[in-house]
Amino acid sequence: MSDLLTIEEYKAIAADLQLPTMSFVDGAFRPSVSGNTFESINPATGEVLANIAACNAEDVDFAVGKAREAFEDGRWSRLHPSERKEVLIKLCKLVQQNSHELAVMESLDSGKPIADCETIDIPEFIHTLSWHAEAIDKIYDQTAPVGPNAMAMIVREPIGVVGAVLPWNFPLLMLAWKIAPALAAGCSMVVKPAAQTTLTALRIAELAADAGLPKGVLNIVPGSGADVGEPLGLHMDVDMVTFTGSTVTGRRFLRYAADSNIKKVVLELGGKNPCIVLDDAEDLDKVAAQVCAAAFWNMGENCSAGSRLIVQSGIKPALLERIKVHARSWKLGDPLDPTHQLGAMIDKGHFGKVAEYLELGKSEGYDIVLGGESIDGTYIEPTVFDGVSSTDRLAREEIFGPLLSVITVESYDEAIAVANDTEYGLAASVFTSNAKKALRAAQAIKAGTVTVNCFGEGDITTPFGGYKQSGFGGRDNSIHAHDQYTELKTIWVDLSDDAVDSSID
Ligand code: NAP
Ligand code: MG
Repeated sequence: MSDLLTIEEYKAIAADLQLPTMSFVDGAFRPSVSGNTFESINPATGEVLANIAACNAEDVDFAVGKAREAFEDGRWSRLHPSERKEVLIKLCKLVQQNSHELAVMESLDSGKPIADCETIDIPEFIHTLSWHAEAIDKIYDQTAPVGPNAMAMIVREPIGVVGAVLPWNFPLLMLAWKIAPALAAGCSMVVKPAAQTTLTALRIAELAADAGLPKGVLNIVPGSGADVGEPLGLHMDVDMVTFTGSTVTGRRFLRYAADSNIKKVVLELGGKNPCIVLDDAEDLDKVAAQVCAAAFWNMGENCSAGSRLIVQSGIKPALLERIKVHARSWKLGDPLDPTHQLGAMIDKGHFGKVAEYLELGKSEGYDIVLGGESIDGTYIEPTVFDGVSSTDRLAREEIFGPLLSVITVESYDEAIAVANDTEYGLAASVFTSNAKKALRAAQAIKAGTVTVNCFGEGDITTPFGGYKQSGFGGRDNSIHAHDQYTELKTIWVDLSDDAVDSSID
């Protein structure tokens, strides 16, 4: 874990940063074919950080061609797994050596608090990449139980050219979740970062080249969803698209696949995740701290944010009091100040959307337990509305801001029913001292991850993804993520007495 620097030191790093501005394709930075650019904005100040190459379908086509060339000639896909591991581990070392610079770049570009970038995003990037790199020379394929007259091998091969389309909320981390298993498996990639947050992906591609990743294997094509994401989704020579973002856009990728080459699609989508607190929950201080983390971490711009607090009536008053106390430690302001836990909302458009939900909460007359205000058109206070009902908009729509809706229930059964009363199914938490209730809840809640007496997303060893409209086609993290970047092949060999002997004497 990096040691935190002072705000002055971070500002000095920011002033000296060399920002990447072009696409990174076939091992080199390149302007867009059209020559167009778009602005990369610092959401905390509104300042233009850089003008980035605005790519389009032509750039995508070029990048996919280079990725295909790289894949087919085997410069990466057919390397010995331990050689791929070596390159990826070298990249981890380079990321570590450049961690302050990358953390500042991430914070400037996304508004994320620098302390999170330093202590979560960068270490987790390295951990994700090293875990998949270390796994790749330890995975075995299978043989099938076909009897003595045949040998059937079931082998996994890298799927080919993978398109990755990323969101802006965890730019480095989502990049790692996609590139680590795909590159480790031997795939070539064309990555479209979110337009708001392109900088660190470009810098990582440059560092990957320094680490010895062959050209054409990891290509970064910046631009909008319409100009880059759609052509990637529709491309006839892309074998798979892995996407993290909204359910609305995820749906489009299924259509793109159906309308093109039936490419494999893996979607990690939105959430409206419940935190259930039952009357018998112990250690309300810990519960309150976890509920705050679930609701406010990353400014609530988190697909697994616990945005619905479903609390049994008996414990509610005490819990809300503890939440008020704990929320005080969530300091908000300049993302480069390492004492801040909350930074800027990603952009003006998203700020406006979240601010409208604040107004909705006020106009609906909910009790404002905490917060309720926006600041400077940039920041949103951690806010808790009590008295929300499961059918209300605040309880149903993904807000992607630090707004927590409190829904009061009387029983365990009602809590589970409310928790499942959503079109999403990404994550859930349950707080109780009763082991049987905890495990029953874990079974009953339709979500990809259920945490007991804590908030979390599991770790690299556990799959992450959603039930219902929170996901499709696979999971990030764990060996399951590796598998999804491969195709299964059966190789059947006839060993019967009348089999043609093809051995060369
Ligand atoms: P988004 O609007 O769906 O954008 C995600 C990506 O898709 C961006 O790169 C975007 O490009 C691109 N895109 C937009 N329209 C497109 C189109 N018509 N065709 C192809 N690509 C298109 O989502 P977001 O606002 O960035 O991210 C927030 C959402 O992501 C939330 O709903 C959140 O829950 C979800 N999320 C899910 C997970 C998970 O693992 N389940 C993790 C993080 C976030 P632009 O550059 O133009 O925006
Ligand atoms: Mg930005």
